[in-house]
Amino acid sequence: MTPSRASRSSAPRSEGYKRRVSILGSTGSVGQSTIDLIERNPESFEVVALTANSNAEALAAQARLLGAKIAVVADESAYGALKQALAGSGIEAAAGREALIAAAQAPADWVMAAIVGAAGMEPTLAAIRQGVALGLANKETLVCAGELMLEEVRASGATLLPADSEHNAIFQVLDADRRDTVERLTLTASGGPFRSYSKARMAAVTPAQALAHPNWDMGAKISIDSATMMNKGLELIEAVHLFGMPETRIDILVHPQSVIHSMVSYVDGSVLAQLGMPDMRTPIAYALAWPERMAAPVARLDLAKIAELSFEAPDPVRFPSLRLAREALRIGGDAPTILNAANEIAVAGFLKKAVGFLQIAEIVEETLSRLPNGKLGSLDDVIAVDGAARRHAVNLIERAA
Ligand code: NAD
Ligand code: MG
Repeated sequence: MTPSRASRSSAPRSEGYKRRVSILGSTGSVGQSTIDLIERNPESFEVVALTANSNAEALAAQARLLGAKIAVVADESAYGALKQALAGSGIEAAAGREALIAAAQAPADWVMAAIVGAAGMEPTLAAIRQGVALGLANKETLVCAGELMLEEVRASGATLLPADSEHNAIFQVLDADRRDTVERLTLTASGGPFRSYSKARMAAVTPAQALAHPNWDMGAKISIDSATMMNKGLELIEAVHLFGMPETRIDILVHPQSVIHSMVSYVDGSVLAQLGMPDMRTPIAYALAWPERMAAPVARLDLAKIAELSFEAPDPVRFPSLRLAREALRIGGDAPTILNAANEIAVAGFLKKAVGFLQIAEIVEETLSRLPNGKLGSLDDVIAVDGAARRHAVNLIERAA
């Protein structure tokens, strides 16, 4: 669970100390936003490790810019290109899964978990085990290994700092020391690019249309998740773990302008919200500077100009992903792991045009209903269930072809 207000009073370091930071997934959308903030504040941060999947050139450029100590590509075939791009810089180059985990364990104070998907699980857990403050963007890790991850957080004394904008908003306004006064949480959702499309129209949308999010500029996978609203389903599961709140007390509210990033309702009828322009640098800055605040170069909110904020209930017929996420939570055990894995395969299938848009949720539902449910005792269990669900979803796609 996220830390309480009481623990915020102990400022972590003395004057002049540079926070040692690493970024897992530095070449992605969240990774680049994090780099932007660090680059503007060289007096506050020292960069330890940066990692990417295979884009050696972009990674090497970031590592040189920030004077990182280590740069790692997960894809071993990109090692030669990375080594060459870092020649003469003194920056250590490495590749492969073990190197990625070692980078996550390199001594640091703060680590951004910004790899996309369950691929982020092992490096994220490795960072947690060294007791760091963890900026968490990689929601899939919490979805597929929530209990295990929280156990590791408790055991290591790591601090979870939500970087997902909705959870960061709740983190900012939640009175964690008086949890009994919190009635409900409300996660806001933009509704994505197909918010007002008919189901028939949604059946024919292309990856390019689904990738064009109206408010946020994000990586491909989360953009598709936003279009199906599975992103909000994953965020619901994320919120259950981060804030220890049952799903029955978490509402989803469609708010197309993405200005109110989420809300907390209290027993006296008060509702506290965090507002801002839709720019990930705000929640990332909050996590990066925690327990302080730092300046972020984002456009300022001008409500007179925006003039109107609107709200609507999500449509369960056109967006079945929300129901599936609630079902997975109710089933418990490994059901969220299955949901997440099937969704990753279905989204990849849609991006390759192997399946249609509406089939994404169908593949998730079918996989969730067909695989036997069990408990998750260890990381090996999570990896096994994740693999089985992926194979099942791949079979469904192959059969549909
Ligand atoms: P992205 O696709 O832009 O970037 C993903 C990063 O992970 C890249 O650096 C990539 O090289 C790396 N990566 C991908 N596959 C990998 C693998 N198999 N092994 C190691 N590294 C790998 O994604 P993003 O939009 O930055 O999202 C990252 C995470 O943050 C996701 O979990 C997403 O749900 C979450 N998130 C993103 C946003 C956003 O605005 N983009 C907002 C909230 C949460
Ligand atoms: Mg979000």
